[in-house]
Amino acid sequence: MYHPVLRQKWDVIIDADRCKGCEICVNACPQQNLELSKSINGLGYHYVEFNFHGKRGDCTGCNICYTVCPDYSILEVVSGEEAANGS
Ligand code: SF4
Ligand code: SF4
Repeated sequence: MYHPVLRQKWDVIIDADRCKGCEICVNACPQQNLELSKSINGLGYHYVEFNFHGKRGDCTGCNICYTVCPDYSILEVVSGEEAANGS
């Protein structure tokens, strides 16, 4: 019997070194896919990390996080196929 491989539909590419941990994106994400790391970056901030499986559901690729970040730390929201290809 054929079992399709379940792929992650979206990936959020974050430049952790640029993130200032302001949590604007954390609070804006409808699915709660983003949270601050326990580690700090070179600027001394807890940076944002992405988890496809959010507290309210899977990432929908809505781009809200990308739009609201004032520091351009969220570089791109890519589809699962692009994410799988590393592009
Ligand atoms: S693309 Fe939308 S659902 Fe996914 S992490 Fe960003 S704000 Fe959340
Ligand atoms: S909005 Fe940008 S700078 Fe603020 S926590 Fe999110 S990724 Fe970091």
